[in-house]
Amino acid sequence: MPRTSRRTAAFSESLIREMTRVANDCGAINLAQGFPDGDPPAALVQAAKDAMDAGRHQYAITWGAPELRDALAKKISRDTSLPIDPARELVVTCGATEALIVAMMTVCDPGDRVGLFSPFYESYNADAILSGATPVHVRLHPPHYGFDPAELRAAFAQGLKAFVLCNPSNPCGRVFTRAELLQIAALAEEFDTFVITDEVYEHIVFPPHLHTYFCTLPGMAARTLSCSALSKTFLITGWRLGHLWASPEIIAQARKVHDFLTVGAAAPLQHAVVTALNFPASYYTALGTDYAARRDLLCGWLDRTGLAYTRPEGSYFVMLDVSPLGCTDDVAFSKWMAREIGVAPVPGSSFFAYPEHRFVRLNFAKSPATLNAAGERLLRLRK
Ligand code: GLN
Repeated sequence: MPRTSRRTAAFSESLIREMTRVANDCGAINLAQGFPDGDPPAALVQAAKDAMDAGRHQYAITWGAPELRDALAKKISRDTSLPIDPARELVVTCGATEALIVAMMTVCDPGDRVGLFSPFYESYNADAILSGATPVHVRLHPPHYGFDPAELRAAFAQGLKAFVLCNPSNPCGRVFTRAELLQIAALAEEFDTFVITDEVYEHIVFPPHLHTYFCTLPGMAARTLSCSALSKTFLITGWRLGHLWASPEIIAQARKVHDFLTVGAAAPLQHAVVTALNFPASYYTALGTDYAARRDLLCGWLDRTGLAYTRPEGSYFVMLDVSPLGCTDDVAFSKWMAREIGVAPVPGSSFFAYPEHRFVRLNFAKSPATLNAAGERLLRLRK
């Protein structure tokens, strides 16, 4: 038999999705894969039913239904204060996951190098490899997950084609300061590097932290491929609606990649989500306040375990240090925790490029009842 590709052998299956299967098998509360356990707004669910009834069953325009691109362009302009042309600067994708691989394949040739922070969200490494590129990792140092400017410069100096920035950051919960982002921007300019962002947690940011869209930094709009999604903002992770925006020159190439990868996201859902994009500004404020309360709830339980964790500034994840419990193999520990404690986390090592086995990641996009039930169980971790 011929051999399957070396590329696909170069990365592993997602441990995030595996931990969901483990949680389902043993009946643990799933704080592993990041998704909300509540329903999306009722008006949005009704809009999906209406789109089905209205016969929206065939392909949308490949780069996104026009009314969705119009609504997205208005939202992005509102959020970034930048003009955006829905006809030439935007592509609708199957989740941010597709936006990211499209962005990577749009800018990378085989042999290129792509910079990533470590810890990173699992997809970026796989996306770089699938694009024929080699990942170059820059450490975010626990427990505060800041970077060392000299280490960042050394990575850019290797000649990066693109740098991937997840902000607010999964898994570590950082919201990078404007000063930090300006350092990345200066290096992108100096070494002529594209910046690919993953900003899916753009509306899950806890005061006093503020989200700065990378494309709004001076000179960065032309070299930034901004990726985001509606999954987290409207509690519709299973609808698979994401988007990529960039300059018309970049989008002209990205559209082709997207078209040949997937043709497009589910047409009725593209039509339906326009309803959500017309929600008032108060929707986004309430979302942030609600997630801040959930963060505080889970962190309150973690305080009672006596274990150290990094308080998230944004996103909906917490990194918990389980090394005082004698954890040296975080994958085995996570499976044990799902079975014996009844709460499934993601092993921290799945996010790190170097051996790091002290952490597990917990997701707090869950109802207060679920977080309290998980919290009671987490107390069993007390030493
Ligand atoms: N981004 C979420 C996480 O990190 C969900 C990932 C996924 O399964 N697509 O858990």
